[in-house]
Amino acid sequence: MRLILLAPPGAGKGTQAELIEQKFKVAHISTGDLLREAVKKGTILGLKAKKYMDKGELVSDEIVIGIIKDKIKDSNDFILDGFPRTLEQAKILDRILDEEGKKLDTVIEIQTPDERLVERAVGRLSCKCGEVYHEIYNPPRTEGICDRCGGKLYKREDDTAETMYSRIKTYKMKTMPLIKYYFQKGILRTVNGDQDIEKVFWKIEKNLNKIKKD
Ligand code: AMP
Repeated sequence: MRLILLAPPGAGKGTQAELIEQKFKVAHISTGDLLREAVKKGTILGLKAKKYMDKGELVSDEIVIGIIKDKIKDSNDFILDGFPRTLEQAKILDRILDEEGKKLDTVIEIQTPDERLVERAVGRLSCKCGEVYHEIYNPPRTEGICDRCGGKLYKREDDTAETMYSRIKTYKMKTMPLIKYYFQKGILRTVNGDQDIEKVFWKIEKNLNKIKKD
C-alpha cells in the first residue's frame, strides 16, 4: 500500500504514521525526520536546511527531493509523512512514481482546528526512535524516558508557539492546495483529528482496510 499523510503541524501526523507503519508494515518515510537527522549529523545539506526549519519555513525542493527520491524508489509499500508539501513537490512525486510504475493508493488528510495545533506541538516530546509523546495527552510511563526504546525524550527546536504560527501559515499557503489536487484525483480521504490518538487511528485503519479489500 502507498499513501500520503497530509496534516498541519501538530495534528499528530508523526504519531499516526508510526501506528500505520506498525499495523500495515509499510516503510515510514518522513522528510522532517530525515532533515533533522541531517541537521544533527551537521552535513552541508543539514546546515542549509536548518536555517529554514528554525523559522518554520519550507526547505528547498532540491534538498527535499534529494533526500527522499531513493527512499521512494527503494520501497514498494510506504507512507509519506511531510511530503509532498507543495503542488510542485506533488507533481515531482507523480513523475517519480510514473518512472517506477508505482501508483498512490490514497491520501489521508487529518483535519484539526488551529487552536489544538499549537498546544499539541508545544507539549510534544520526541524520541530518536520515532516515538512521539505529549506532556499531558500522551505522557510516557517514566518521565522523560521513551516507553519503546528507553531513550531520553527531547523537545524539537521548532516546537515553540512562535515557530508554530509560522508553520501553520506556511501549511495554509503552500500545502492546503494539495487537498484539492488529490480530491480531484479521487484519492483523498479526510479524518477528524480533533479526538484521541486511538480514535483517529481507528478511522484511518477503517479507511485503509477498505482500500486493501478494493
Ligand atoms: P515536520 O517534521 O514534517 O513537521 O517537518 C519539520 C520541518 O522540516 C518543516 O517545518 C520544514 O522546514 C522541513 N520540511 C519537512 N518536510 C518538508 C518538505 N516536504 N518540503 C520542505 N520542507 C520540509
